[in-house]
Amino acid sequence: MDRRELLKLGALAGAAAVTGVGANALLRPSPAAALAGLPGGSPLGNRRVKNVIFLAYDGTGYEDFATADFFARRVVGQPLRYHQFLSEGLTGTMIPSSLTSWVTDSSAASSAWSTGRKIVNGAVNQFPDGTELTPILELARATGRATGLVTTARATHATPAAWVAKVRAREMEEEIAIQYLASGTDVILGGGQAYFDPAIRSDGRDLFGEFAGAGYDVVKTPGELASSSGSKLLGVFAPSTRHVAYEIDRRFGGVDQPSLADMVRAALPRLDGAEGGFVLQVEAGRMDHANHEQDAGAMVWDWIAADEALGVLLEFVADRDDTLLIHAPDHDTGGGVTFGWGSRYSRTDPALMTFGNVRCSYERLLLDLMPRNPSPAQVRELVEANVGVPVGDFAAENLAALVSGTDMAGLRWGHQNAVLGSMKYQVAQLLSQSFENRPERPPVSFATSNHTAGFVPVVLAGAGIEAGNLGVIDNTELFGVMTAALGIEFENPAMTADEAQELVDEG
Ligand SMILES: [Zn+2]
Repeated sequence: MDRRELLKLGALAGAAAVTGVGANALLRPSPAAALAGLPGGSPLGNRRVKNVIFLAYDGTGYEDFATADFFARRVVGQPLRYHQFLSEGLTGTMIPSSLTSWVTDSSAASSAWSTGRKIVNGAVNQFPDGTELTPILELARATGRATGLVTTARATHATPAAWVAKVRAREMEEEIAIQYLASGTDVILGGGQAYFDPAIRSDGRDLFGEFAGAGYDVVKTPGELASSSGSKLLGVFAPSTRHVAYEIDRRFGGVDQPSLADMVRAALPRLDGAEGGFVLQVEAGRMDHANHEQDAGAMVWDWIAADEALGVLLEFVADRDDTLLIHAPDHDTGGGVTFGWGSRYSRTDPALMTFGNVRCSYERLLLDLMPRNPSPAQVRELVEANVGVPVGDFAAENLAALVSGTDMAGLRWGHQNAVLGSMKYQVAQLLSQSFENRPERPPVSFATSNHTAGFVPVVLAGAGIEAGNLGVIDNTELFGVMTAALGIEFENPAMTADEAQELVDEG
């Protein structure tokens, strides 16, 4: 074989690796089903449970755990329950890929849990040819179980949606709200009033009224939540398209909305009253948004809020073997890391302690506190008072120019990656330490404003489960864990990555 033939062969091999069968096959998990070898295909063996609770942390991973763990111990003064939970549960590592991308979005990730099938990013329980998948809450209802969704994101956001709805695109939140009503889901708690509000919905439908007509208590404030006694409950606590406020803004900004733990405490007794048991998905949704926004202060406080909700759930499953608790992030976001700083990294811990000065998310600072055309002096004053970091002339002038040139109210802050574009980067660069390493700023640096491929921890607890090792599992395998535990025999239709990609390419 001469050199020319060799080159040709090399080029062909290269082409095959990029476009051929090999490309998407590489995205499939291997081994396909780590749990398949277990009795009943489940860590519980052939044992059944009455209830399943799935706690999802959106957009966070091992590195955030390290940052949040320091924050919890040293700044808040109370270790994370998650720390002990991870030690005492049946734990493993989860691969969070979607059907055609090694990096998943939230809708594909949640659909994978909910249906046992990977789909293309952006869809909710649908393949690109319109084939619909049946989500776990629909299957659970068919067994007579009550069902619930609790989230700090909008109630109709991707992660909760994928446990109930079937739509072509996750942005179809008006349709998702309609499907929630039709589904009969017993408890729905989160943010985003817009999608239920006749004054804002494009079809003018009054979904608040329709839910009330279907027997739901409809509540919009913590006070209404506390005084509600109905067994069916719709709680939407944030105005317009806003998510439930970041924990940091709830605690320090006087935002009158419930915490994730408050919402979980409201959901549990309603669902636990059901004769046939229940399935509940709880999402700590806003670590993801904080990481998209490269806002480490908001991220660590939402970890604290998520940890309180975890505490409520651990208390609920303690000493009862009829409830399985599953916990996993859907993916990591931002690739934020606490980095070593100073001689022998001696300045890392003092810099991390400055998390204690942060009193406000970037979201609240820019959307709610900053005047419309701020002067550099106003910017400096607001940032120093609320974010607790000193602002130089350069940052103050640039931030003032950025805010003045942007329709802040028109921004859907904390939404999908592309909405804020470079704005988010610029704000993060101007306000965070990554712009300049300063002793007054936490030493946390982000790799991206997008999701990452990072593998994430998964924990199974309750239901008499003992500490152990699950190994490396695929996100789709948690569907099998849930259906086996609930005594449901069901398989959704399948599509290969290559078939899906072809359909996407055909547009
Ligand atoms: Zn997500």
